[in-house]
Amino acid sequence: MDSGEKISFSEGKLVVPDRPIVPYIEGDGIGPDIWRAAVMVIDGAIKKCWQERRQIIWKEVLAGEKAFKQTEQWLPQDTLDAFREFRVGIKGPLTTPVGKGIRSLNVTLRQKLDLYACVRPIRYFKGAPSPVKEPQKVEMVVFRENTEDVYAGLELESGAEETLALLHHLSETYGWHIRSDSAIGIKPISKTGSDRLIRAAIEFALEHQRRSVTLVHKGNIQKFTEGAFRNWGYELAKEAYPDRTISWEDVEGTPPASKVLIKDTIADIFFQQALTRPEDFDVIATMNLNGDYISDALAAQVGGVGMAPGANINYQKGYAIFEATHGTAPKYAGLDKVNPTSLILSGAMMLDHMGWSEAAILIEKGIEKAIAGKKVTYDLARLMEGAEEIPCSRFAEQVCEQMELA
Ligand code: NAP
Repeated sequence: MDSGEKISFSEGKLVVPDRPIVPYIEGDGIGPDIWRAAVMVIDGAIKKCWQERRQIIWKEVLAGEKAFKQTEQWLPQDTLDAFREFRVGIKGPLTTPVGKGIRSLNVTLRQKLDLYACVRPIRYFKGAPSPVKEPQKVEMVVFRENTEDVYAGLELESGAEETLALLHHLSETYGWHIRSDSAIGIKPISKTGSDRLIRAAIEFALEHQRRSVTLVHKGNIQKFTEGAFRNWGYELAKEAYPDRTISWEDVEGTPPASKVLIKDTIADIFFQQALTRPEDFDVIATMNLNGDYISDALAAQVGGVGMAPGANINYQKGYAIFEATHGTAPKYAGLDKVNPTSLILSGAMMLDHMGWSEAAILIEKGIEKAIAGKKVTYDLARLMEGAEEIPCSRFAEQVCEQMELA
C-alpha cells in the first residue's frame, strides 16, 4: 500500500507532494452518502489530470457518532492531531444537539486548530433552480470570522449560581440592570481576530483580481464590537495596502480598476441588497454570526445549501479543513438521495488550495455539465422544470462521466 507523504508549510506556503496524505471525516447522517460521492469525483479529477503521477492517500479520522461508537469520544485527540500533522483535510457534516449535550464539534475543531477564516464561495451553475431572476449575478466569496463572536461558547445558563454572580457584578460595577432570570452570552470581537480575517479577505481579493471587499456589520447598534470590526477593516486596508486598495470615501466617480474598493454595509440592509443588486458585492468580510446567516442566504440564491462549498483556514499556519456547508439532514441518512455538490465543490476548493487547480477546474466543469443535463438530485429536481431525479451516487458518476469527456 502507498503510504504517502505529509503536506508541509514553509515561508507561508504549502508544500504539497505528489502523494499527499489527506485526513477525512466521513460525517454523520448523510455524511457517508455524500463522502462516497465526493471521493469518487475528487479521485476521478486527479486521475484525469495526472493519471498515476498524482494521487491523494486518504486517511480516515473519526469524529461525531462514528467516533463515539468506536471510542466513546465525540472528537478523539487522534483526530485533532491528524489534522495538525497533515495540515489539509476534509469533512462531512457532524451532528450538534440543540440546547443541550456536547458542544458543536465543528466549532470545537475550528477553535482547536484556530481555523480563523471560514471561506464560502457562492457561484451560480447555469440551469440550477433559483428563487431570483438573475442568479448568474451572484458571484461572491464570504470570509466569515470563525473563532470569536457569540460562537466563542461563552454562555451562562439562566438561574445558575455563576450567572447570578455575574449579573450582580454587572449591576454593581457598570450599573447594568439585567433581568435576574436572564441567560448571559459574551460576544468577544478582537482587533487581532478581525485584522487577520479582513487581511485574508483583502489578500484573496488582490490575488483573484476581485473588485471589492465589503465589511458587513451591525456597528450602528453594537458599536464597540461590530462597529470596531468595520473601523479596524478600513484602518488595516489603509495601513497595510495603501497602494492596492481604496476606501469608498476616497473614490470620485468610478473606482480605479487597479485597486480593490473597500466599503461597508450594515447587515440587515445587506440581506436586501444581496437580493436586489448582488452585482454590487464581491468579497465579503464579516463576523461569525452574520457570516453564518449570510452564507446560507446567498446559497439559497444559487440552488440551496446542497450547492455551496466551504473551507476553514488558518493562513498563518497552513491548516485547512474543507467541508460541506449544510448539516447532517438525518431524515435522508443512508438513502443515497441528497445532493453531494457541496462536499464535491469543497473538495475542488481543497485541490485549488493545494495548488492542484486543473483538477478543481475540471470538477467545476463536470458539475456545470451534469446540472445542465437536468439529471439531478431531488432538491434540484423538485424545482427544475423537466428534470429527472437521480440518486446521490448516480449524480457523482455523471459528474465523473462529464469530466472524462472534458
Ligand atoms: P441540515 O442538516 O442542513 O438540513 C436542513 C435541510 O436542508 C434538509 O432537511 C434538506 O432540506 C436540506 N439539505 C441539507 N443538506 C442537503 C443536501 N446535501 N442536499 C439536499 N438538501 C439538503 O440542517 P439541520 O436539519 O438544521 O441540522 C441537522 C444537524 O446538522 C444538526 O445536528 C446540526 O447541528 C448539524 N449541522 C452541522 C453542520 C456541519 O457539520 N458543518 C452544519 C449545519 C448543521 P429539505 O428537507 O427541504 O429537503
